Amino acid sequence: MMIIMNTDASQKQVDQVIVKVKALGFDPHIVYGEERTVIGVVGNNPFIATQGQLFRMPGVDRVMPISRPYKLTSREFIREDSVFPLDGVDIGGRGIVIIAGPCAVEDRGLIIEIAHAVKEAGAHALRGGSFKPRTSPYAFQGHGEKALKWMAEARQATGLPVVTEAMSEEQIELVTHYADVIQIGARNMQNYSLLHAAGASQHPVLLKRGMSSTVEELLMAAEYILSHDNRRVILCERGIRTFENSTRNTTDINAIPVLKEKTHLPVVLDPSHATGNWNYVTAVARAGIAAGADGLIVEVHQEPENALSDGFQSLKPERFAEMVTQIRNIAQAIDRDIAVSSHVSL
Ligand code: PEP
Ligand code: MN
Repeated sequence: MMIIMNTDASQKQVDQVIVKVKALGFDPHIVYGEERTVIGVVGNNPFIATQGQLFRMPGVDRVMPISRPYKLTSREFIREDSVFPLDGVDIGGRGIVIIAGPCAVEDRGLIIEIAHAVKEAGAHALRGGSFKPRTSPYAFQGHGEKALKWMAEARQATGLPVVTEAMSEEQIELVTHYADVIQIGARNMQNYSLLHAAGASQHPVLLKRGMSSTVEELLMAAEYILSHDNRRVILCERGIRTFENSTRNTTDINAIPVLKEKTHLPVVLDPSHATGNWNYVTAVARAGIAAGADGLIVEVHQEPENALSDGFQSLKPERFAEMVTQIRNIAQAIDRDIAVSSHVSL
């Protein structure tokens, strides 16, 4: 539920409510809005247990239940879009943010070269897996910490913030040491100890939708992270499993406006995993932006035919540059634009 304070409530009154909520055994989550402060109260059935005791407190305007099962993630709790910086660029605002790079970080020279290439083409952040979740245990598993160090070097060379996956709770510390955004992959969307650890880290998180998960399950997974008062979560639609097998996955374009309605969090589309085929990536990326996504995460490789993973769905840098131009046109047609990054080309 949420406690909506009066517009002129004092900080002391807010503090008294917080103390009371804690004394009743619930977790308060405070949002200092432009007009008024709202205190989210989460726990088992807080509304029934506490409503009567809270609504008469000084400074309290009203106490309302949040009807959705996800609370802090819902638009009922936070009405305005959440906008936050990713080292040099804001995500969730009017500007479209583009994250690009290889599926996996393969070697030092290649990642630095691709970082320059995607930046040149207009990307705002660099992606690349250091720990790779592979269907086969015999497939390339990623270079681990070595790859994280190369990513950090690529960031230093280009200024681009780095997005990389943590596959387990134990990897969070290492990943947050080197990277700007923790990616949680589709296969791990309901790995609750990983979600808790990512929340507790207070690092930005890019949370991918599980390939067989509903939108509501994605929002519930995000709620785990937000329950640690970590609100810097980016949701990612990356295609779901359906009966259709002409593409690797089926892009759930509907999920984009649905998510934008149900949550204040930024939403991005991954057209690479959603299609599994480089030839469809640009078309589906355009559709995602037209549908209201706040950004894209796209696989780009200088030699897709030699990539150690997901080469078939990776764009070459020239094609990626064309994609960015087309995305700019789509964005402008819906009164948005490509985000402006404060990093000047080095
Ligand atoms: C990836 O981004 O390379 C990846 C493994 O994605 P997903 O978790 O969506 O399959
Ligand atoms: Mn991949």
